[in-house]
Amino acid sequence: MPDAGRLASEFDLIRRHFSRPAPGAALGVGDDAALLRPQAGMELAVSTDLLLEGRHFLPGADPRRLGHKALAVNLSDMAAMGAAPRWATLGLALPHADDAWLAAFADGFYAMAARHGVDLVGGDTTRGPLAISVTILGEVPAGLALLRGGAVPGDDIWVSGALGGAALALARPDLEDIADRLHAPEPRVELGERLRGLASAAIDVSDGFAQDLGHILERSGVGAVVEFDALPAPEAVKREAPEVRIRCTLAGGDDYELVFTAPQAHRADIERLSAELGLPLSRVGSVQPGERLLVLDGGRQPMAVPRGFDHFPS
Ligand code: ADP
Ligand code: MG
Repeated sequence: MPDAGRLASEFDLIRRHFSRPAPGAALGVGDDAALLRPQAGMELAVSTDLLLEGRHFLPGADPRRLGHKALAVNLSDMAAMGAAPRWATLGLALPHADDAWLAAFADGFYAMAARHGVDLVGGDTTRGPLAISVTILGEVPAGLALLRGGAVPGDDIWVSGALGGAALALARPDLEDIADRLHAPEPRVELGERLRGLASAAIDVSDGFAQDLGHILERSGVGAVVEFDALPAPEAVKREAPEVRIRCTLAGGDDYELVFTAPQAHRADIERLSAELGLPLSRVGSVQPGERLLVLDGGRQPMAVPRGFDHFPS
């Protein structure tokens, strides 16, 4: 599209910052479209996330961490599908062409991409209020993707890592030991791939545990019982007053952990996988008939479940 907001040195900018080699693509940045060669027998998993300044990150956010996070949130969607991430495109709106900012952003982005075998193969760049949109493409053997709709009564409910750290870091910028939970999340890509054939359903925690588990329950047509005390949380969250702890753990967004369900027969395999990956996997409850999500406190009494994040609450 002709673009009135074209940056003066748009082509230089792309050449300088976003044209590193893409060995996993038949054709990368520089033509009218990238060319990709998916492997035979694979399905393509495609997902997009949009990050806006002032809504998803604070004005003045560190550009390196922003590059990391923009790709991390998309990698997390691949993890939740059990897909191996391969390619990404990057849409950028920039208020001005700031070379130092772009270099740092690109470093954060490419470092994350290299760790997960992803090639940046294209994008679009325009002038405008700072906005970052990444589309990611991954591969998963046909029929083996982890969907939200596969949970059945009797399945266990599992959570990776720890919940609530990102929400607490947002509320308490002084707590340096959990700052990375918010600003530089680690997507559980390897876990997602290894859960193929083990998990019955999966989702990543972007809007809060209760809300995201709720999506699995709704898609699967089931309910669940979760034990609050079994939910994993960072020490910093455990030290908080009960109301804060409950809100962060059940409704805190941006953690990018995986919540998944799996048949009880897979418990030993999942515990072995946890040890192998060096990643805690906690069994926090079970899938039930019905449609209710019950969260029980230490005395096995039902708790009020706070709502997670919603951009358009009714
Ligand atoms: P077009 O006018 O066809 O949209 P552009 O001039 O916008 O082409 O882009 C030129 C090339 O640079 C294309 O290959 C495009 O995919 C790539 N590109 C543009 N912006 C980015 C970006 N932010 N990151 C990666 N590649 C980009
Ligand atoms: Mg373009």
